[in-house]
Amino acid sequence: MGQIELKGVTKRFGDVEVIPPLDLHIGEGEFVVFVGPSGCGKSTLLRLIAGLEDVSGGHIEIDGQDATDLPPAKRSLAMVFQSYALYPHMSVRKNIAFPLKMAKADQATIDAKIENAARILNLTDYLHRRPGQLSGGQRQRVAIGRAIVREPAAFLFDEPLSNLDAALRVNMRLEISELHQKLKTTMVYVTHDQVEAMTMADKIVVLHAGVIEQVGSPLELYRSPRNKFVAGFIGSPK
Ligand code: ADP
Ligand code: MG
Repeated sequence: MGQIELKGVTKRFGDVEVIPPLDLHIGEGEFVVFVGPSGCGKSTLLRLIAGLEDVSGGHIEIDGQDATDLPPAKRSLAMVFQSYALYPHMSVRKNIAFPLKMAKADQATIDAKIENAARILNLTDYLHRRPGQLSGGQRQRVAIGRAIVREPAAFLFDEPLSNLDAALRVNMRLEISELHQKLKTTMVYVTHDQVEAMTMADKIVVLHAGVIEQVGSPLELYRSPRNKFVAGFIGSPK
């Protein structure tokens, strides 16, 4: 579960091709980080995988099935948004339950999944609170909880930590890495932060103007950057 294949995927906005034909393999259970400067196409690529944007060409396969034309809800993927996307007027419990309510799950299932997500994320004592009564880290965990209850084949993160302060960001990096170790679910994580990429990824995808410059483990990219762009971006001594 959680294998994603991009085959000749392209994206145009009007006349502008922001993603030229691109191939990428994301393996089951991998923690894959898309990294690159602002505007290089990281979010667009993630939104194509999520189905929030239509491809202009090519195919996307999820677990061997052609998912190119599937709507987001049918892709068994869960996007984790920044914590400010929580509903401020709803309790933590209701925020986490929201996707299950939308899917018309029965109440016993909803309760069991909420308890499970809350336990994994250390939110059990906070389920009755509203987002405004939580710390920034707790709010971020609620946003992740909303994805966990869907039991997705893969989690998709778009710069989830960019509105947190530096200390909390370091903390949340560790928490997300630990979550990956616990769940062993595929995670695709977008960031412009090299340190985040180097510390969290099994596999880094370096993007530059919609083109993949290199794919490899943090160590491979550090030791053998393919070109100056990768070396400069990853901070390799070469
Ligand atoms: P990143 O997430 O790496 O900062 P994006 O994927 O957001 O980059 O954007 C890649 C390029 O596509 C940018 O040039 C951006 O202006 C353009 N772009 C993104 N979304 C749209 C859109 N909905 N309409 C037109 N251009 C877009
Ligand atoms: Mg972006």
